Amino acid sequence: MRLRALLYALPICLLAQVASSAQGEQAGSLTAMVLTGQNNHGWQVLSAHYETVLEATGLFEVDVVTSPPRGADMSGFAPDFASYDVVVIEYNGDDWPRRVQKSFERYMENGGGMVYAHAVNHTFTNWVAFNEMMGIGGWGGRDEAAGPYVKYRDGQMVLDHRPGHAGECVDAHAFSVVTRETDHPIMRGLPPVWLHGTDELYSNQRGPAKNMTILATAYSDPAREAHWGVETHGTGEHEPMVYTIGYGQGRVFGTAMGHVDGGAEVGSGPWPAIDCEGFITLIQRGAEWAATGDVTQPVPDTFPTATDVSLR
Ligand code: ZN
Repeated sequence: MRLRALLYALPICLLAQVASSAQGEQAGSLTAMVLTGQNNHGWQVLSAHYETVLEATGLFEVDVVTSPPRGADMSGFAPDFASYDVVVIEYNGDDWPRRVQKSFERYMENGGGMVYAHAVNHTFTNWVAFNEMMGIGGWGGRDEAAGPYVKYRDGQMVLDHRPGHAGECVDAHAFSVVTRETDHPIMRGLPPVWLHGTDELYSNQRGPAKNMTILATAYSDPAREAHWGVETHGTGEHEPMVYTIGYGQGRVFGTAMGHVDGGAEVGSGPWPAIDCEGFITLIQRGAEWAATGDVTQPVPDTFPTATDVSLR
């Protein structure tokens, strides 16, 4: 870690070498920051969960960095992104100072890694670069100015430019996740269809979707009631659930899954969306891929099947 901090001072051409040297490193030698502190979902539960599941891989040393609370002064907030192979953004709240935004943009442009899930997609509506990193988002006042709706139709990603509000979800339920990119390192060896633990199924996300690949989808059933948006029912479409985005030299892994309630406290639960072996496996593999560009972890025997949810 101290070496990495020193290397931060080196020119960008050398930083790129440091980033690429993450490939092939020994177990436990990757570093992850979980950046948290504000969310309308239980960020204490979520950030502790991400720390636990990343450390469980044996690949990552994890630090949790907590922002000032909502409405508080951010003048002393200065996460040291460049010291980490991957940053898990578990944050949905106040805008960061432009100084911090620029620091994160530089980190990603120079080959950083980012992981995000679920309601993080609400945040930073007006930070253009962050929305490019996420690929798609919802809520936060987003509409057609955020980019097209991103759909999966007839075996491919489709950009739908009709106007409208971004972000809905149907009643929480267990739902089938369908793998769409079987050869991607994150998806290799996963079943073609598996049952995810009870979760909110996001739909009608929209965003720039540049350099975005949809790895898995879930069907938003029009028989189900929808909430929080303008639709009253599921969309009847296969909605993006798991995706990657390229940003500069950096890699982003994102998923729409991962709900816990806003008032969730550490030790509460179970939370079937994040305790799902499928969700945990995707976060672990997605973080390794975002950090190194490859995945060395085997798919666990406990991974859900097409008919059975599996909770840790
Ligand atoms: Zn939620």
